Amino acid sequence: MIQLGEMRVHLINDCTIKVDPGGAFGLVPRALWGPLLPPDENHLVPMVQVNLLVQSGGKNIVIDTGYGQKLAEKQKAHMAFTRPNGDLVEALGRCGVRPEDVHLVINTHLHGDHASGNTRYADDGQTLLPTFPNAEYVVQRREYEDAMHPDERTRATYFPINYEPLLRSGQMRLLEGDLEIAPGIYGHITPGHTPGHMSVRLESGGQHLMFVCDLASYAIHFERLGWMTGYDVEPLRTLESKRRWQAWALSTDALMVFPHDSQRPIGRYRVNAVGKAMVEAVNEPFV
Ligand SMILES: [Zn+2]
Repeated sequence: MIQLGEMRVHLINDCTIKVDPGGAFGLVPRALWGPLLPPDENHLVPMVQVNLLVQSGGKNIVIDTGYGQKLAEKQKAHMAFTRPNGDLVEALGRCGVRPEDVHLVINTHLHGDHASGNTRYADDGQTLLPTFPNAEYVVQRREYEDAMHPDERTRATYFPINYEPLLRSGQMRLLEGDLEIAPGIYGHITPGHTPGHMSVRLESGGQHLMFVCDLASYAIHFERLGWMTGYDVEPLRTLESKRRWQAWALSTDALMVFPHDSQRPIGRYRVNAVGKAMVEAVNEPFV
């Protein structure tokens, strides 16, 4: 657990999957990424799914909800899906938080790996229920609109069952641009991965943390402005968003959370004496 001023931040891993490095590293040649993240015998690389529990002002706030429980066995097999420590809900339980105790769920964006845990099936296997029945869910309006109108490339990751019932029932609120979502918890549009992608910044007692999310899926993507994933729909905007937040991270000494990095899910951005950018890992275990 990280004490950030008055806030307590718990680092959770919902699951680990394996992906084609073309997704994780896009145009970057294997000669460069291979030594950093060696692929397995099937030429796949690991991808964890980091979520946060933030406890602040008596409230339980969840940032991103992982894959949830709605995946079919076939989908899991395709992704080499594993959950040795259970899912997000089980991790919350280890922190003493039941689903009904969550007050706020922040979706950085609505891709399947970040928002599928928003909803679950009732015992009939058909009726969709909110995983967190008493929470308000928030996401950027632009992201919601894109997720409701996917194109041929994005429809494999935008599934309305993860968000449409929440908006229809009035449990999801759509956000308009940068704002303070809750005291000390700020949403910032960081376009590139998707046009409405939002990073979440925490500030308490003069300390800073940013859930970077897919602005930089792995720490290496934050170190190297030219590296971005193959999933980004506007990669040159990713580059400019990263440039801006690199400068911020350096000036605030913030903890930065990278959602898919098994080796360095959290660290501090540094530039050394010869100008080399690097993320210094912080040793913080998953819940
Ligand atoms: Zn992602």
